[in-house]
Amino acid sequence: MADWLAALDRRAELRAKAGLTRTLRPRSAGDAVVDLAGNDYLGLSTHPDVTAAAVAAVRAYGLGATGSRLVRGSTDAHHALEDDLADWLGTDRALVFSSGYLANLGAVRALVQPRTLLVSDAHNHASLIDGCRISGAETVVTPHADVAAVRAALAAAPGRPAVVVTESVFSVDGDLAPLAELHAVTRGHGALLLVDDAHALGVTGPGGAGGVAAAGLAGEPDVIVTATLSKALGGAGGVVAGPAEFVRHLVETGRTFIFDTALPPAVAAGVRAAVGLARAGDDLRAELAERAGLAVRRLRAAGLTVSTPDAAVVSITAPGPETATTWAADCRDRGVAVGCFRPPSTPDSRSRLRLTLSAGVPRADFERALEVIVECAP
Ligand code: PMP
Repeated sequence: MADWLAALDRRAELRAKAGLTRTLRPRSAGDAVVDLAGNDYLGLSTHPDVTAAAVAAVRAYGLGATGSRLVRGSTDAHHALEDDLADWLGTDRALVFSSGYLANLGAVRALVQPRTLLVSDAHNHASLIDGCRISGAETVVTPHADVAAVRAALAAAPGRPAVVVTESVFSVDGDLAPLAELHAVTRGHGALLLVDDAHALGVTGPGGAGGVAAAGLAGEPDVIVTATLSKALGGAGGVVAGPAEFVRHLVETGRTFIFDTALPPAVAAGVRAAVGLARAGDDLRAELAERAGLAVRRLRAAGLTVSTPDAAVVSITAPGPETATTWAADCRDRGVAVGCFRPPSTPDSRSRLRLTLSAGVPRADFERALEVIVECAP
């Protein structure tokens, strides 16, 4: 075997020894597994209005966008979606990217000027971390949700432009960043606050408008919101929302916007239908909140260490990566899919099972799934 392939094999063996092997497992349409691993929080990925809008658009526009947004890829469907997202999020404008990952890379990089300091929460998602890296800016990583550390980092950089980068609902433990306090600190310094609302959009806030809106920060001129359209909205794509001047700057200079083929128009149309349903989905949000409470009570009563969820993400600490893998595999064998998070996908060395709740899962299946988890993760 070629040397470099043998070297890759040795690295795979090391991962296997540490219990960190990752494998792909295809699912088929309509499988009978109870899904507590996906991010279809409101069950909209299969909603008939959403799929009908996408099917109609695929017929009208074809499968792909055929080009980048500034070339031929910008369709009415993209622009209508952007108008609706801006209206929902309470910002001047919103710009759609082909993924949340690219939205974060593009947004962080576009906010950086010479001498900018980035202040990034230790639990931030890989796409925010990579955004900080490719921006080339000096980055201070602050302990998780530590407002005093953020204040100190900014105070140590007087007169420098700065951007504080955080998630709203954190993807691993489902806890909420102290957004109002962070904003008070950034405003005091004249810094900007970039919030990734991926796990909050559709799930928290007035009309599901997300964590930024819930914190009363919608439309603030020094706040930038990013999100994926692949979770509560059940589709794909990403969005950056904020002041019109910043969105224009992104259109004209954002590399992950300019040099990337546009989101397929059918996805934009489907997501737009999902936005309408999500805005009207207070009943779905109430159901999710109730299920989160039930999961925490039931799992803690069984002696498990469970996070305190602020939205629809609940995490269970596992003693180590092998145990997490075994628990998840046992659940799966019994028809329940749960997320299995191990280093390096966790911000610390802890492995976890992650439950992502969905109002689309029938209530009885959800309650049965909790029993299965309790039996598999003793
Ligand atoms: N931010 C967070 C917090 C996420 O959880 C994700 C999805 N894993 C992303 C960004 C990336 O979004 P996308 O999957 O649309 O690229």
